[in-house]
Formats: sequence, structure tokens, C-alpha cells
Amino acid sequence: EPQLSMPKAGAPSTGKPAVTPDSVINLDHGDPTMFEEFWRGTGSAAEIVIPGWQTMSYFSDVGNVCWFLEPGLDHEVRRLHRLVGNAAVDGYHVLVGTGSTQLFMAALYALSPRTDSAAGAAPMSVVSTAPYYSSYPAVTDFLQSGLFRWAGDANTFKGDTYIELVCSPNNPDGAIREAVLSSESSIAVHDLAYYWPQYTAITKRADHDIMLFTVSKSTGHAGTRIGWALVKDRDVAKRMTKFIELNTIGVSKDSQLRAAKVLRAVSDAYELPETKEAHRLFDYGRRKMVERWSMLREAAAASGIFSLPEETSGFCNFTKEMAVTNPAFAWLRCDREDVEDCASFLRGHKILTRSGSQFGADPRYVRVSMLDRDDAYDIFVKRLSSLQ
Ligand code: PMP
Repeated sequence: EPQLSMPKAGAPSTGKPAVTPDSVINLDHGDPTMFEEFWRGTGSAAEIVIPGWQTMSYFSDVGNVCWFLEPGLDHEVRRLHRLVGNAAVDGYHVLVGTGSTQLFMAALYALSPRTDSAAGAAPMSVVSTAPYYSSYPAVTDFLQSGLFRWAGDANTFKGDTYIELVCSPNNPDGAIREAVLSSESSIAVHDLAYYWPQYTAITKRADHDIMLFTVSKSTGHAGTRIGWALVKDRDVAKRMTKFIELNTIGVSKDSQLRAAKVLRAVSDAYELPETKEAHRLFDYGRRKMVERWSMLREAAAASGIFSLPEETSGFCNFTKEMAVTNPAFAWLRCDREDVEDCASFLRGHKILTRSGSQFGADPRYVRVSMLDRDDAYDIFVKRLSSLQ
């Protein structure tokens, strides 16, 4: 793990330290620091001030299923989805979580039948198509719950009672996915963390039963730790809320207010006539991602030993243009015969990535974050192109 630089007393931390041309470049986590540059340019649009007496109560909206949800966040979440057209919001409950990670756990809790493990009832199986996001097995099993259990790749799963996690665009490989399993007693949870215009064409308004989103990937505010779920069924929404009540008695209001202001700044930049074009997040994000993917494809071609997923494209209903997919991660394969473990090969060249094996896939693959700061990304691409 990188050493974090010690901030001055009272000053906020800056995350990962600055890099130099011979630094170790850590692209293992999907830390979305690329977006700092954009938000630096937006002035006070996303700023908030919270007086000492505010946000003190546990409660936010006692009449709501999600009683700790700030109404302002509820409003801005719905407004942004209506603007982008990536998910239906009418008839849905909005739930807030400490990152979408907490909501993912809440969904497992809510969807698992109340089994009596002492009576021998088996835990609910949790599956996802490989390569799957490495946190799914880790988060599912870390408390060894009697309610649910990780059961691996959805493609090889036998049985008809399970929860299927559908991540689209997929972490790690950027694929557009749909649920592969279907049975009466199965339920899908759609993790749409990357279903935003900077990463992919918005081809349809998603209207699944449970959809998870997060500011970590949409605006880049991972440190704010705010995610939200759009949930159709009231009882499922209630049980998910109960999980968060038992787990953390709600979600930081300060963070919710900040997330609401950030989302508001994003929508305002498209909806208010007086805002500058430079303040349009998705335009910025798309431009950056297109540039980074073209740099990466050139570097992989120059090295001759790496391959990347094929570029796909679609008509984006948000931009009203054809758009290519620019995944937030590169799913990079090392084609050199003698390299069986791409992550350790790259580590030898001071590039830290996550091995394919952590995603239920071949260790010839690695996942590389595409969302780091410019300086680190530039060094990474340059180093990669020189490898033979
Ligand atoms: N889902 C996916 C697919 C992710 O890639 C991530 C972040 N890496 C998350 C969920 C979790 O995001 P959060 O920061 O909101 O907990």
C-alpha cells in the first residue's frame, strides 16, 4: 500500500502521493482522481458550508421508507437520472448508502430468505458471470453469513435459487451485460456504477428491480462514500433500509449534502443556460476517456505483447451521437508465452494492477484503473509501450 503523505494539521489529505518518472504506479484500485482536475475548474459550484448546529439529528425524512435519506439528495438523484436517461426513477424508492458497497450488502440481506441455519437451511447462493468485480465474493463472504454465500461464476452455477449480480458496463472488462440466469426464484441486482455517458453510450433507460449507483464513478467523489439504490418493491426497500439501520444507523448527512450539491452542479451545467461548457462533467469525462483509451491502444500496439478488449459502440440517447465504450478499467492481456502471471510481470516494471485471478479469470489478464491522475497515467502508458 502507498504511504500517504502527512497533511498539515487541519488540512485535508490529498490521497495518493504525487509521482515521478521512476515511481511505482499504483493502478490496482479504481481511485477516480482523474476527476479532480474537472472539479478544480468548477469554482464554488459544488461547494457547501455546514454550520456547527446543522445535520445533528439521526433523522432526515421520517415519513420516507429510507428515513435517513436527505430530501435534497433524493431530488438531485432523480433529476440527474431524468437528465441522462440512464435509469427510470418514477415508481422507485431511492435509498442512500455508505458507498454502493453498503447497498450491495443491504440487497443481499434483503433478498435472502429468513433461513434458520440451525435447522439446516442452506444460505442463498450469490453468483455473477466471470470475470466479476473482485469485491463481490470478498464482500459476500467476509462475515460468513448464514443467510447468503458466494457461489461463483453464474455461467457454471447449477441450481435455481440465487441472487445474480449483474454489473454493466462490467468491472473489470467493460462488457455490456444482462442477467444470464433466469428462474422463478432468482433475483438480479444490477450494479450500474459505470452506466454513465463518460464510459458508454446510454442506449436505454434501465428499469430493473434493484439498481445500484455511486458518486465514486459518476462524479469521481469516492471519498464522500455515497451511493444510492433505485428499488421498485417497497418491502425490499424497507429491508434494505433495515440493514443500514442495523449496520450504521443511517448514512452521514454531511456526505449526503455534499453529494447532493455535486449532483446538482452536474445537472445545472446542462440545464441552466448561463453555465460554461467547460463545466459539463460528461463532456469532460468522455473527452478524457477517449484520449486515454487511444493512448493505451497505441501503447499496447507499440509493445506488441498486450491485447485489449475490442472497441464497441452504440448510439447514445444522452449525447444524441454514436459513442464508443471507454471503460473505467482496462482488461489487459499479456500475450507473451512465457508470462503466466501478468500482474507480477507488470509489478516487476513498477506497475501495480489487479490480477485476473481475483475476478475469477486467467492470471494472464490484469485490471488496470483508467481513472488515475494525468501524471500517473502518462507514466503508465509510456512504461507499457516500452515493454517487449
Ligand atoms: N460496484 C462496482 C462495479 C465498482 O467498481 C465499485 C467501486 N470500485 C463499487 C460498486 C463500489 O463503489 P462505492 O465506492 O460506491 O462503494
